[in-house]
Amino acid sequence: MLGKYRALRQDQAAVSAGGRNPFGLAFDTVLSATEAVLDGRRVLLLGTNNYLGLTFDRDCVAAAIAATEAEGTGTTGSRIANGSYGGHEALEKRLASFLGRRGAMVFTTGYQANLGVLSALAGRGDHLLLDADSHASIYDGAKLAGAQVTRFRHNDPDDLRRRLRFLSSQPGDKLVVVEGIYSMLGDTAPLREMAAVKREMGAWLLVDEAHSLGVLGEHGRGLAEAEGVEADVDFVVGTFSKSLGAVGGFCASDLPDFDVLRVASRAYMFSASLPPSVVASVGQGIEAMERRPELRARLAENGRRLHAGLAAAGFALSAPPGPIVSLPMPDREAAVRFWNLLLAEGVYANLALGPATPGGRPLLRMSVSAALDTEQLDFATAAIGRVGRALGVAGGGPAAAAAAE
Ligand code: PMP
Repeated sequence: MLGKYRALRQDQAAVSAGGRNPFGLAFDTVLSATEAVLDGRRVLLLGTNNYLGLTFDRDCVAAAIAATEAEGTGTTGSRIANGSYGGHEALEKRLASFLGRRGAMVFTTGYQANLGVLSALAGRGDHLLLDADSHASIYDGAKLAGAQVTRFRHNDPDDLRRRLRFLSSQPGDKLVVVEGIYSMLGDTAPLREMAAVKREMGAWLLVDEAHSLGVLGEHGRGLAEAEGVEADVDFVVGTFSKSLGAVGGFCASDLPDFDVLRVASRAYMFSASLPPSVVASVGQGIEAMERRPELRARLAENGRRLHAGLAAAGFALSAPPGPIVSLPMPDREAAVRFWNLLLAEGVYANLALGPATPGGRPLLRMSVSAALDTEQLDFATAAIGRVGRALGVAGGGPAAAAAAE
Protein backbone atom coordinates (compact mmCIF):
# COMPACT_ATOMS: atom_id res chain seq x y z
CA MET A 1 0.00 0.00 0.00
CA LEU A 2 2.71 2.50 0.94
CA GLY A 3 5.19 1.12 -1.56
CA LYS A 4 4.45 3.90 -3.98
CA TYR A 5 6.05 6.34 -1.55
CA ARG A 6 9.50 4.79 -1.72
CA ALA A 7 10.94 7.70 -3.67
CA LEU A 8 9.28 10.19 -1.33
CA ARG A 9 10.68 8.39 1.71
CA GLN A 10 14.17 8.40 0.21
CA ASP A 11 13.76 12.07 -0.52
CA GLN A 12 12.77 12.77 3.08
CA ALA A 13 15.67 10.70 4.40
CA ALA A 14 18.07 12.73 2.25
CA VAL A 15 16.67 15.98 3.66
CA SER A 16 17.08 14.68 7.23
CA ALA A 17 20.56 13.24 6.64
CA GLY A 18 22.34 16.53 7.30
CA GLY A 19 20.86 16.95 10.79
CA ARG A 20 17.29 17.05 11.96
CA ASN A 21 14.15 16.21 10.08
CA PRO A 22 12.89 19.71 9.23
CA PHE A 23 9.40 18.38 8.56
CA GLY A 24 9.12 16.46 11.82
CA LEU A 25 10.33 19.05 14.30
CA ALA A 26 8.68 19.04 17.74
CA PHE A 27 9.36 21.73 20.32
CA ASP A 28 9.67 20.60 23.95
CA THR A 29 7.46 23.54 24.80
CA VAL A 30 6.42 26.85 23.32
CA LEU A 31 7.08 29.65 25.79
CA SER A 32 5.62 32.68 24.07
CA ALA A 33 4.86 34.12 20.64
CA THR A 34 8.60 34.47 20.04
CA GLU A 35 10.37 31.71 22.00
CA ALA A 36 10.27 27.94 22.35
CA VAL A 37 12.42 25.24 23.91
CA LEU A 38 13.94 22.64 21.61
CA ASP A 39 16.04 19.83 23.08
CA GLY A 40 16.37 21.80 26.31
CA ARG A 41 17.61 24.97 24.53
CA ARG A 42 15.75 28.19 23.95
CA VAL A 43 15.17 29.07 20.31
CA LEU A 44 13.88 32.26 18.77
CA LEU A 45 10.78 31.71 16.63
CA LEU A 46 11.15 33.36 13.24
CA GLY A 47 8.82 31.17 11.23
CA THR A 48 5.40 31.21 12.86
CA ASN A 49 2.94 33.33 10.80
CA ASN A 50 2.04 34.75 14.22
CA TYR A 51 2.01 38.20 12.65
CA LEU A 52 0.40 40.17 15.46
CA GLY A 53 1.78 37.91 18.21
CA LEU A 54 -1.70 37.24 19.58
CA THR A 55 -1.23 33.58 20.60
CA PHE A 56 -0.33 34.64 24.15
CA ASP A 57 -2.35 37.85 24.23
CA ARG A 58 -3.88 38.07 27.70
CA ASP A 59 -7.37 39.01 26.49
CA CYS A 60 -7.43 36.26 23.85
CA VAL A 61 -6.25 33.64 26.34
CA ALA A 62 -8.73 34.82 28.99
CA ALA A 63 -11.61 34.74 26.49
CA ALA A 64 -10.67 31.19 25.44
CA ILE A 65 -10.55 30.00 29.05
CA ALA A 66 -13.85 31.65 29.95
CA ALA A 67 -15.58 30.17 26.89
CA THR A 68 -14.28 26.69 27.70
CA GLU A 69 -15.51 26.99 31.29
CA ALA A 70 -18.90 28.20 30.08
CA GLU A 71 -19.52 26.01 27.02
CA GLY A 72 -17.08 23.13 27.09
CA THR A 73 -14.11 22.01 25.06
CA GLY A 74 -15.75 21.21 21.74
CA THR A 75 -18.96 21.34 19.73
CA THR A 76 -18.77 17.64 18.76
CA GLY A 77 -20.47 18.15 15.43
CA SER A 78 -21.18 20.26 12.38
CA ARG A 79 -23.43 23.29 12.48
CA ILE A 80 -25.80 21.83 9.93
CA ALA A 81 -26.30 18.50 11.69
CA ASN A 82 -25.72 19.49 15.32
CA GLY A 83 -26.53 23.17 15.51
CA SER A 84 -24.58 26.36 15.87
CA TYR A 85 -23.57 27.93 19.16
CA GLY A 86 -24.45 31.57 19.66
CA GLY A 87 -20.74 32.35 19.47
CA HIS A 88 -20.45 31.10 15.87
CA GLU A 89 -23.14 33.49 14.69
CA ALA A 90 -21.81 36.36 16.77
CA LEU A 91 -18.32 35.81 15.34
CA GLU A 92 -19.67 35.81 11.79
CA LYS A 93 -21.46 39.10 12.43
CA ARG A 94 -18.33 40.58 14.01
CA LEU A 95 -16.18 39.46 11.10
CA ALA A 96 -18.64 40.77 8.51
CA SER A 97 -18.76 44.12 10.25
CA PHE A 98 -14.95 44.27 10.56
CA LEU A 99 -14.61 43.55 6.83
CA GLY A 100 -17.53 45.80 5.86
CA ARG A 101 -19.34 42.90 4.21
CA ARG A 102 -22.95 41.82 4.23
CA GLY A 103 -22.22 38.29 5.44
CA ALA A 104 -19.48 35.96 6.59
CA MET A 105 -19.23 32.22 7.00
CA VAL A 106 -16.80 30.53 9.35
CA PHE A 107 -15.00 27.26 8.57
CA THR A 108 -12.94 25.00 10.81
CA THR A 109 -9.66 25.77 9.01
CA GLY A 110 -8.51 28.13 6.29
CA TYR A 111 -7.77 25.12 4.14
CA GLN A 112 -11.39 24.05 4.46
CA ALA A 113 -12.58 27.58 3.64
CA ASN A 114 -10.88 27.43 0.25
CA LEU A 115 -11.91 23.85 -0.29
CA GLY A 116 -15.52 24.51 0.66
CA VAL A 117 -15.96 27.83 -1.09
CA LEU A 118 -14.24 27.06 -4.40
CA SER A 119 -15.90 23.68 -4.75
CA ALA A 120 -19.33 25.17 -4.03
CA LEU A 121 -18.96 28.31 -6.17
CA ALA A 122 -17.64 26.68 -9.32
CA GLY A 123 -19.01 23.50 -10.82
CA ARG A 124 -18.92 21.67 -14.08
CA GLY A 125 -19.20 24.17 -16.94
CA ASP A 126 -17.66 27.00 -14.90
CA HIS A 127 -14.10 28.30 -15.07
CA LEU A 128 -11.58 28.86 -12.30
CA LEU A 129 -8.64 31.09 -13.16
CA LEU A 130 -5.89 30.49 -10.64
CA ASP A 131 -2.61 32.31 -10.15
CA ALA A 132 0.12 29.75 -10.85
CA ASP A 133 1.60 30.21 -7.35
CA SER A 134 -1.69 29.53 -5.55
CA HIS A 135 -1.74 27.76 -2.20
CA ALA A 136 -2.44 24.02 -2.14
CA SER A 137 -5.90 24.61 -0.62
CA ILE A 138 -6.88 26.63 -3.71
CA TYR A 139 -5.66 23.94 -6.09
CA ASP A 140 -7.40 21.26 -4.03
CA GLY A 141 -10.65 23.24 -3.91
CA ALA A 142 -10.46 23.65 -7.67
CA LYS A 143 -9.98 19.92 -8.13
CA LEU A 144 -13.03 19.23 -6.03
CA ALA A 145 -15.07 21.84 -7.92
CA GLY A 146 -14.96 19.97 -11.21
CA ALA A 147 -14.76 23.30 -13.06
CA GLN A 148 -12.29 23.88 -15.84
CA VAL A 149 -9.06 25.17 -14.30
CA THR A 150 -6.89 27.71 -16.09
CA ARG A 151 -3.61 28.79 -14.50
CA PHE A 152 -2.29 32.21 -15.36
CA ARG A 153 1.29 33.43 -14.88
CA HIS A 154 1.98 34.49 -11.32
CA ASN A 155 0.99 38.11 -10.69
CA ASP A 156 0.53 38.76 -14.41
CA PRO A 157 -2.70 40.70 -15.17
CA ASP A 158 -1.98 40.68 -18.92
CA ASP A 159 -1.78 36.90 -18.96
CA LEU A 160 -5.03 36.78 -16.97
CA ARG A 161 -6.72 39.10 -19.49
CA ARG A 162 -5.46 36.98 -22.40
CA ARG A 163 -6.83 33.83 -20.87
CA LEU A 164 -10.18 35.39 -19.98
CA ARG A 165 -10.46 36.67 -23.52
CA PHE A 166 -9.77 33.21 -24.85
CA LEU A 167 -12.58 31.85 -22.65
CA SER A 168 -14.99 34.70 -23.38
CA SER A 169 -17.10 32.81 -25.89
CA GLN A 170 -17.52 29.88 -23.53
CA PRO A 171 -20.52 29.66 -21.20
CA GLY A 172 -20.25 29.37 -17.44
CA ASP A 173 -19.10 31.65 -14.61
CA LYS A 174 -15.46 32.73 -14.51
CA LEU A 175 -13.93 33.09 -11.07
CA VAL A 176 -10.45 34.59 -10.68
CA VAL A 177 -8.56 33.55 -7.53
CA VAL A 178 -5.55 35.44 -6.16
CA GLU A 179 -3.86 35.85 -2.79
CA GLY A 180 -3.11 39.06 -0.90
CA ILE A 181 0.41 38.15 0.17
CA TYR A 182 1.92 34.98 -1.30
CA SER A 183 3.14 32.83 1.55
CA MET A 184 6.43 31.59 0.15
CA LEU A 185 8.09 34.68 -1.32
CA GLY A 186 6.07 37.32 0.51
CA ASP A 187 5.14 39.21 -2.67
CA THR A 188 1.72 40.83 -3.06
CA ALA A 189 -0.74 40.54 -5.93
CA PRO A 190 -1.04 43.54 -8.30
CA LEU A 191 -4.64 43.74 -7.16
CA ARG A 192 -5.63 47.04 -8.79
CA GLU A 193 -4.65 45.71 -12.19
CA MET A 194 -6.27 42.32 -11.48
CA ALA A 195 -9.49 44.08 -10.43
CA ALA A 196 -9.47 46.15 -13.64
CA VAL A 197 -9.16 42.95 -15.71
CA LYS A 198 -11.95 41.33 -13.72
CA ARG A 199 -14.25 44.33 -14.40
CA GLU A 200 -13.30 44.53 -18.07
CA MET A 201 -13.91 40.84 -18.66
CA GLY A 202 -17.00 40.38 -16.49
CA ALA A 203 -15.45 37.78 -14.18
CA TRP A 204 -15.84 37.24 -10.44
CA LEU A 205 -12.94 37.80 -8.04
CA LEU A 206 -11.95 35.90 -4.89
CA VAL A 207 -8.99 37.10 -2.81
CA ASP A 208 -7.41 34.85 -0.21
CA GLU A 209 -6.15 37.32 2.41
CA ALA A 210 -4.70 34.55 4.63
CA HIS A 211 -1.37 36.34 5.08
CA SER A 212 -2.61 39.91 4.65
CA LEU A 213 -5.56 40.11 7.06
CA GLY A 214 -4.56 42.24 10.03
CA VAL A 215 -1.33 43.01 8.21
CA LEU A 216 -2.19 45.29 5.26
CA GLY A 217 -4.62 48.17 4.88
CA GLU A 218 -5.24 51.10 7.19
CA HIS A 219 -7.69 49.03 9.24
CA GLY A 220 -6.07 45.66 8.63
CA ARG A 221 -8.68 44.38 6.20
CA GLY A 222 -5.96 43.19 3.84
CA LEU A 223 -4.51 43.92 0.42
CA ALA A 224 -7.88 44.85 -1.11
CA GLU A 225 -8.22 47.62 1.47
CA ALA A 226 -4.62 48.75 0.96
CA GLU A 227 -5.18 48.93 -2.80
CA GLY A 228 -8.64 50.53 -2.55
CA VAL A 229 -10.39 47.77 -4.53
CA GLU A 230 -12.63 46.12 -1.93
CA ALA A 231 -15.72 46.87 -4.05
CA ASP A 232 -14.27 44.66 -6.82
CA VAL A 233 -13.67 41.68 -4.55
CA ASP A 234 -16.70 39.40 -4.56
CA PHE A 235 -15.38 36.89 -2.03
CA VAL A 236 -12.78 37.41 0.70
CA VAL A 237 -11.27 34.23 2.12
CA GLY A 238 -9.02 34.17 5.15
CA THR A 239 -7.75 32.24 8.10
CA PHE A 240 -7.73 32.63 11.87
CA SER A 241 -4.45 30.70 12.08
CA LYS A 242 -2.06 33.55 11.32
CA SER A 243 -2.65 37.14 12.43
CA LEU A 244 -5.55 36.04 14.67
CA GLY A 245 -3.38 33.49 16.47
CA ALA A 246 -5.86 30.60 16.58
CA VAL A 247 -7.28 28.22 13.99
CA GLY A 248 -10.20 28.42 11.57
CA GLY A 249 -11.12 30.07 8.30
CA PHE A 250 -13.79 32.24 6.74
CA CYS A 251 -15.34 33.59 3.61
CA ALA A 252 -17.10 36.96 3.48
CA SER A 253 -19.15 38.47 0.70
CA ASP A 254 -21.77 41.09 -0.19
CA LEU A 255 -23.80 38.72 -2.35
CA PRO A 256 -27.36 38.64 -0.95
CA ASP A 257 -27.77 34.88 -1.36
CA PHE A 258 -24.29 34.07 -0.05
CA ASP A 259 -25.81 32.06 2.82
CA VAL A 260 -26.83 29.27 0.46
CA LEU A 261 -23.20 28.11 0.61
CA ARG A 262 -23.93 26.75 4.09
CA VAL A 263 -25.93 23.95 2.51
CA ALA A 264 -23.86 23.67 -0.65
CA SER A 265 -20.34 23.57 0.78
CA ARG A 266 -19.40 20.08 1.89
CA ALA A 267 -16.32 21.22 3.84
CA TYR A 268 -18.73 23.31 5.93
CA MET A 269 -21.53 20.77 6.19
CA PHE A 270 -19.54 17.65 6.97
CA SER A 271 -16.98 18.83 9.50
CA ALA A 272 -17.29 19.74 13.17
CA SER A 273 -17.52 23.46 13.92
CA LEU A 274 -14.96 25.53 15.80
CA PRO A 275 -14.83 25.02 19.58
CA PRO A 276 -16.04 27.81 21.89
CA SER A 277 -12.46 28.61 23.01
CA VAL A 278 -11.35 29.38 19.46
CA VAL A 279 -14.50 31.33 18.62
CA ALA A 280 -13.94 33.47 21.71
CA SER A 281 -10.22 34.09 21.20
CA VAL A 282 -10.76 34.97 17.53
CA GLY A 283 -13.41 37.50 18.59
CA GLN A 284 -10.86 39.08 20.92
CA GLY A 285 -8.27 38.95 18.15
CA ILE A 286 -10.52 40.97 15.85
CA GLU A 287 -10.96 43.42 18.72
CA ALA A 288 -7.16 43.71 18.94
CA MET A 289 -6.89 44.26 15.18
CA GLU A 290 -9.40 47.10 15.43
CA ARG A 291 -8.29 48.73 18.66
CA ARG A 292 -4.53 48.26 18.50
CA PRO A 293 -3.27 49.51 15.13
CA GLU A 294 0.14 49.82 16.79
CA LEU A 295 0.48 46.03 16.42
CA ARG A 296 0.26 46.40 12.65
CA ALA A 297 2.72 49.29 12.70
CA ARG A 298 5.14 47.28 14.82
CA LEU A 299 4.86 44.30 12.47
CA ALA A 300 5.66 46.52 9.47
CA GLU A 301 8.63 48.05 11.31
CA ASN A 302 9.92 44.58 12.24
CA GLY A 303 9.60 43.43 8.63
CA ARG A 304 11.56 46.46 7.45
CA ARG A 305 14.27 45.93 10.07
CA LEU A 306 14.85 42.27 9.22
CA HIS A 307 14.75 42.99 5.49
CA ALA A 308 17.23 45.87 5.77
CA GLY A 309 19.56 43.86 8.01
CA LEU A 310 19.65 40.92 5.62
CA ALA A 311 20.02 43.11 2.54
CA ALA A 312 22.97 44.83 4.25
CA ALA A 313 24.48 41.40 4.95
CA GLY A 314 24.45 40.78 1.20
CA PHE A 315 21.51 38.39 0.83
CA ALA A 316 19.34 38.29 -2.25
CA LEU A 317 15.77 38.86 -1.02
CA SER A 318 12.67 37.55 -2.70
CA ALA A 319 10.34 40.53 -2.19
CA PRO A 320 10.19 44.10 -0.89
CA PRO A 321 9.94 44.49 2.92
CA GLY A 322 6.90 42.82 4.47
CA PRO A 323 5.92 40.29 7.10
CA ILE A 324 7.45 37.41 5.11
CA VAL A 325 11.15 37.49 4.33
CA SER A 326 12.48 34.66 2.17
CA LEU A 327 16.02 33.92 1.12
CA PRO A 328 16.39 31.99 -2.14
CA MET A 329 18.88 29.15 -1.66
CA PRO A 330 21.24 27.93 -4.38
CA ASP A 331 20.11 24.30 -4.03
CA ARG A 332 18.31 21.95 -1.72
CA GLU A 333 21.46 20.79 0.06
CA ALA A 334 22.49 24.34 0.91
CA ALA A 335 18.96 25.11 2.09
CA VAL A 336 18.95 22.12 4.44
CA ARG A 337 22.41 23.01 5.79
CA PHE A 338 21.38 26.62 6.25
CA TRP A 339 18.26 25.63 8.18
CA ASN A 340 20.20 23.26 10.48
CA LEU A 341 23.05 25.70 11.15
CA LEU A 342 20.59 28.48 11.89
CA LEU A 343 18.77 26.28 14.38
CA ALA A 344 22.12 25.53 16.03
CA GLU A 345 22.51 29.31 16.36
CA GLY A 346 19.17 29.36 18.20
CA VAL A 347 16.90 30.64 15.43
CA TYR A 348 13.99 28.68 14.02
CA ALA A 349 13.00 29.56 10.44
CA ASN A 350 11.07 27.57 7.83
CA LEU A 351 12.73 25.34 5.31
CA ALA A 352 10.60 25.47 2.18
CA LEU A 353 11.21 23.07 -0.69
CA GLY A 354 9.40 22.05 -3.86
CA PRO A 355 6.59 21.39 -4.54
CA ALA A 356 5.54 23.94 -1.92
CA THR A 357 7.65 26.74 -3.43
CA PRO A 358 7.32 28.62 -6.72
CA GLY A 359 9.22 26.73 -9.40
CA GLY A 360 10.25 24.18 -6.76
CA ARG A 361 13.13 26.47 -5.75
CA PRO A 362 14.43 25.98 -2.19
CA LEU A 363 13.90 28.83 0.26
CA LEU A 364 14.72 29.76 3.79
CA ARG A 365 11.50 31.44 4.79
CA MET A 366 10.99 33.72 7.75
CA SER A 367 7.95 35.50 9.04
CA VAL A 368 8.14 38.32 11.54
CA SER A 369 5.80 39.06 14.39
CA ALA A 370 4.78 42.25 16.14
CA ALA A 371 5.82 40.44 19.32
CA LEU A 372 9.52 40.38 18.36
CA ASP A 373 11.63 43.12 19.91
CA THR A 374 14.55 44.78 18.17
CA GLU A 375 17.08 42.85 20.23
CA GLN A 376 15.57 39.56 19.05
CA LEU A 377 15.50 40.75 15.44
CA ASP A 378 19.11 41.90 15.56
CA PHE A 379 20.15 38.60 17.17
CA ALA A 380 18.42 36.72 14.35
CA THR A 381 19.87 38.97 11.64
CA ALA A 382 23.40 38.44 12.98
CA ALA A 383 22.91 34.66 13.18
CA ILE A 384 21.51 34.47 9.63
CA GLY A 385 24.43 36.58 8.40
CA ARG A 386 26.97 34.26 10.05
CA VAL A 387 25.39 31.16 8.52
CA GLY A 388 25.06 32.86 5.14
CA ARG A 389 28.73 33.81 5.11
CA ALA A 390 29.82 30.34 6.29
CA LEU A 391 27.89 28.77 3.39
CA GLY A 392 28.75 31.44 0.84
CA VAL A 393 25.07 32.30 0.39
CA ALA A 394 25.49 35.93 1.45
CA GLY A 395 27.87 38.68 0.45
CA GLY A 396 28.34 37.93 -3.26
CA GLY A 397 29.95 34.45 -3.04
CA PRO A 398 29.31 31.97 -5.88
CA ALA A 399 26.46 30.34 -3.93
CA ALA A 400 24.96 33.79 -3.37
CA ALA A 401 25.03 34.44 -7.11
CA ALA A 402 23.36 31.08 -7.79
CA ALA A 403 20.69 31.81 -5.18
CA ALA A 404 19.98 35.22 -6.68
CA GLU A 405 19.31 33.78 -10.15
N1 PMP B 1 -4.53 30.07 2.14
C1 PMP B 1 -3.24 30.44 2.16
C2 PMP B 1 -2.77 31.44 1.15
C3 PMP B 1 -2.37 29.91 3.12
O1 PMP B 1 -1.09 30.28 3.13
C4 PMP B 1 -2.87 28.98 4.06
C5 PMP B 1 -2.00 28.40 5.15
N2 PMP B 1 -0.67 28.32 4.94
C6 PMP B 1 -4.20 28.61 3.98
C7 PMP B 1 -5.01 29.18 3.03
C8 PMP B 1 -4.76 27.57 4.91
O2 PMP B 1 -5.01 28.10 6.15
P1 PMP B 1 -5.11 27.19 7.46
O3 PMP B 1 -3.73 26.99 7.94
O4 PMP B 1 -5.94 28.02 8.38
O5 PMP B 1 -5.77 25.91 7.10
